[in-house]
Amino acid sequence: MQNTTNTFDYHVDKFADIEILRYRVTGFEALSLQQKQLIYHLSEAAQEGRDILFDQHYEHNLCIRRTLEAIYETHNETEKNVEEFNAFEIYLKRVWFSNGIHHHYSTDKLEITCSKEYFTSLLKKVPVSLLPLEKNETIDSFYTKIITLIYNPEIDKKRVNLADNQDLITSSANHFYKNVTQQEAEDFYNGLQDSSDLQPISYGLNSCLVKENGIIKEKTWKLNGMYTAAIEKIIYHLSNAMAFAENSKQKLIIEKLIAFYQTGNLQTFDEYSILWVKDTSSEIDFLNGFIETYGDPLGRKGSWEAIVNFINKEATQRTQTISNHAQWFEKHSPVNEKFKKTSVVGVSAKVITNAMLGGDSYPATPIGINLPNSNWIREVHGSKSVTIDNMMEAYHHAASGNGFNEEFMWSQHECELTEKYGYITDKLHTDLHECVGHGSGKMLDGVSPEALKAYGATIEETRADLFGLYFIADPMMVEIGLLPNMDAYKAEYYRFMLNGLMTQLVRIKLGDTIEESHMRNRQLIANWVFEKGQKQKCIEKRVQNNKTYIIIHDYVALRTLFGELLAEIQRIKSEGDYTAAKYLVEKYAIQIDYSLHKEILERYTALDIAPYKGFVNPTYEQVYNEYGEVIDIVPHYTESYTEQMLRYSKTKSYLPTYN
Ligand code: ZN
Repeated sequence: MQNTTNTFDYHVDKFADIEILRYRVTGFEALSLQQKQLIYHLSEAAQEGRDILFDQHYEHNLCIRRTLEAIYETHNETEKNVEEFNAFEIYLKRVWFSNGIHHHYSTDKLEITCSKEYFTSLLKKVPVSLLPLEKNETIDSFYTKIITLIYNPEIDKKRVNLADNQDLITSSANHFYKNVTQQEAEDFYNGLQDSSDLQPISYGLNSCLVKENGIIKEKTWKLNGMYTAAIEKIIYHLSNAMAFAENSKQKLIIEKLIAFYQTGNLQTFDEYSILWVKDTSSEIDFLNGFIETYGDPLGRKGSWEAIVNFINKEATQRTQTISNHAQWFEKHSPVNEKFKKTSVVGVSAKVITNAMLGGDSYPATPIGINLPNSNWIREVHGSKSVTIDNMMEAYHHAASGNGFNEEFMWSQHECELTEKYGYITDKLHTDLHECVGHGSGKMLDGVSPEALKAYGATIEETRADLFGLYFIADPMMVEIGLLPNMDAYKAEYYRFMLNGLMTQLVRIKLGDTIEESHMRNRQLIANWVFEKGQKQKCIEKRVQNNKTYIIIHDYVALRTLFGELLAEIQRIKSEGDYTAAKYLVEKYAIQIDYSLHKEILERYTALDIAPYKGFVNPTYEQVYNEYGEVIDIVPHYTESYTEQMLRYSKTKSYLPTYN
């Protein structure tokens, strides 16, 4: 609804299977100076653990990264301006993106596409003093080590191996364990755990498990322990941040986190997590520590991660408004009265604006956070669940320039509608789905919640989606200020039908069927509504120049059909009508028209859209007055991907090459 977006360039870089975007810290200007300073110091702390993550991912990562960077920096522009150097540069960019030499998503070893001979010639041009040699390491053995690690695909080929019937620890390249087998690691932790402890600490979360001289022990990541040089810096910035805490609770949270970094005591970490989950009043929030455990095949070791954010009041207000109208929605929904709840409570979600990403959240980032991970803390103290608004905004704007809409939408009219309203209506549909859709309706007495068995999940998602689709076109949306006018919802109707009938299939392999329940639900709705709507001539499929398009002629009639299907789906759910659920899902949700699928994949492939996205961070400048006092902090959005990565490697890099 604001027109400032067109001056902001979201696109930063594109290479291999990656696109790098920029996110905007909307609303930062409106924060108080104290809040800005808090964010500033937390952001500094968020950048200091990058080396930790590189080393956690693989013990040779820092050595390889520093070598590649030395090559990059010792070659001039003329030398860089050849095709083989470009292949080398892409490899370096991929290593930065993955925080190591294994793909961030598949965890397979990255392939370098310049020849070994060429790489060797680049490497040998670097002055020896600039290379990260170990004590007593000869330059020849260093060359051999680097070239072998990068070029031999069989050595340490997967960072996280989850394949059955293999030793998951020795076959995984990560640096969470060293010289121990899976059996030894499992025995070690089974020995520590007491099964009668109802509030167990997260054993193993903050350490590398090693065997030295036959003894298995943990090397803890803490001050004066493993990674101390980086942790010292993190503590320094957290201490600075503490002076600008918004309230005493928040100050205590930062204090606890510092104490955890100082001692490595996991009991302290649990105390910190409880304080953190209970703080719902501070406007600024952050994560900094060893959090997610996906990088460890045994699910114990926390990858270092940091996020700094603040509440997006406007967007949070939006989910609050929806939630406040839960009863109104229930009353006006098109389902049979006997399936309605007499009193409904909506849920409201906190929406945040991200200000800084670090470690495992950078450059690839989550769009939502749901923490802490400790099961007992979640049960006893609850969890925090938030969505990150400005990331979704960046994704949306980046997508509007990639040719996707122009390729698949029927005319300029639909493209413009999407450009204008697509972002707000997409979010609004999601909010309606989550805040009121799932919570609406009731089961009849005696009906088991499991009555729909394997079809249950798809039917439930269908119900929530239809609830959102029906109400997004209600004049009430304009009345309560969630949409600007009665044209806006059409953007979501068109997007939804196009996606459900065609474009979501780009994520499915040719010849496969649809399995995931959200994808099934979308196709179920789109196919059912299309079948009825085609007869009424309110929607059609038209082929032009061998390309299939969807044309919507009557949006109001479409809404009536969404309402009809919602009534039927609610009946199926309320009565536990397994036969009807099975019929709808089997008939509309699973099968794919082979030739249409083939056409869509060909059109999509031709667009050359990168499947993975990541972000560069803004930089924050402290503005001083004549007395040397900070009077403002200003975000800048000018740094390139390579500039940012090289800057972090120079100014936020304190760890030794091997840890
Ligand atoms: Zn859902």
